[in-house]
Amino acid sequence: MPRGEAVGIDVGILNFLATSSGKTYRNLRPFKTLQRKLRLLQKRVSRKVKKSNNRKKAQVKVSELHEKIANIRKDYYWKLAHELCDSAGMVFVENLNLQGLARGILGKHCWDAGWGQFFQILEQCCLKRGVFFLKVDARKTSQICPNCLTERGKKELSERVHSCGHCGYTTDRDVAAAQVVLIRGLAAVGHTVKMLSEGKAVALPVTKESPSL
Ligand SMILES: [Zn+2]
Repeated sequence: MPRGEAVGIDVGILNFLATSSGKTYRNLRPFKTLQRKLRLLQKRVSRKVKKSNNRKKAQVKVSELHEKIANIRKDYYWKLAHELCDSAGMVFVENLNLQGLARGILGKHCWDAGWGQFFQILEQCCLKRGVFFLKVDARKTSQICPNCLTERGKKELSERVHSCGHCGYTTDRDVAAAQVVLIRGLAAVGHTVKMLSEGKAVALPVTKESPSL
């Protein structure tokens, strides 16, 4: 059942994740070093004579590191999922078309970022802890002002701040997108939301006057 405090989540390239309550999480740094090491080891494999013992040994090292990286990532996602569940009774995420994104402009970034795996883990975590989880429409989440709900047009990736020319609401761009996700999620479960100030939102029952997204 949808109840308790609600949190909307936006995922992106610069920030791995942003929440409607104003928290942002950067992409995992340690990966870069480990991934460089992985490429180095992979090169070493290709330099060894095929079917030789040395090649086998080098291959074992590659798969060990692969596993290590995958485990660190998984642990981090679980930790993040638990942290989000700690403070929420409802979690809303974007229903991303990951295949479409991978083919499109985001390309390889999309798979590197691991959003798909993270959403799976988050959903499992919510299920375990009795937190309501829902995917909502992902369209234009970064183009709508969460405060006045007017469409403000596309932002360049370099534009890090959402500043609404209509109502003056200003916040981090990813946080603004997460707040749009939150509003959509709450609307989907029959609530409307009133933004009080940065990160503070109260859910209200939907009325006739409620703007629809
Ligand atoms: Zn506005």
